[in-house]
Amino acid sequence: MLKLNPQLILFDLDGTLYVSNQAIPGAVDALDRLREHGFQLRFLTNTTTKSQAQLVEQLRSLNFSLDTHELISAPVAAQLELQSMQKKAARTLRIWPVVADAIKKDFSEFEIGEISPDVVVLGDIGDRWDLDLINKLFNAIHGGAQLIALHKNRFWQTDDGLKADIGFFVAGLEYVCNMNARVMGKPNADFFQRVLDSVSVSARETMMVGDDIDSDVGGAQELGIKGCLVKTGKFRQGYYDQSTIKPDMVAESVVDFADRLLKA
Ligand SMILES: [Mg+2]
Repeated sequence: MLKLNPQLILFDLDGTLYVSNQAIPGAVDALDRLREHGFQLRFLTNTTTKSQAQLVEQLRSLNFSLDTHELISAPVAAQLELQSMQKKAARTLRIWPVVADAIKKDFSEFEIGEISPDVVVLGDIGDRWDLDLINKLFNAIHGGAQLIALHKNRFWQTDDGLKADIGFFVAGLEYVCNMNARVMGKPNADFFQRVLDSVSVSARETMMVGDDIDSDVGGAQELGIKGCLVKTGKFRQGYYDQSTIKPDMVAESVVDFADRLLKA
């Protein structure tokens, strides 16, 4: 029998609440019911191609109700990290943001420059990857810049099937520069801890719901947060079967999750 008593529920977005910008049927109602029962909700995403405001707007357009502060994206976490680094350095940091145009303005409080940056911030840039960029990044980091990766996902689901994610480039840069990136998104423990701190709820009172067994479930469990895997989005039975990660719950969808949690 499932023993769960969370106060805070963290939801992944893509593949969990919606797929290809279509809400999972019943998901809006399921979240409303959880709120009615007093659960606090937060929405976590590694998406690095949209600003916080755009992500909130996207969820609202699918009829999900949420406050802006309830959405914590990897770029939002990166800004907090940079602010903290800048405070420690007691000077303006020079940032080279290799990120989607939509979120570039989110880093406008920092000095922007590709020459001798203090920090390289790496996110999703679609098909703009090429060897010239990789070598520029290598030289910046080899020359002393720190690397902040907005996430390190292995692959993602698109309309055309699964595609390699930026974890490919982050891991490659770590290897050739012989260093470790600070990874902002899931499954990084710092990311989850920052979310818990912002709500003042402990890991044991928290549950993470997502379609990525590594990033959502594994990352959360590492910090003591219970993990529920949903069988929507990128879920693949074969990948789940061979994984060493054991979710605390496996649900058909976020609706099934809510039904079972409210029954428990
Ligand atoms: Mg997902």
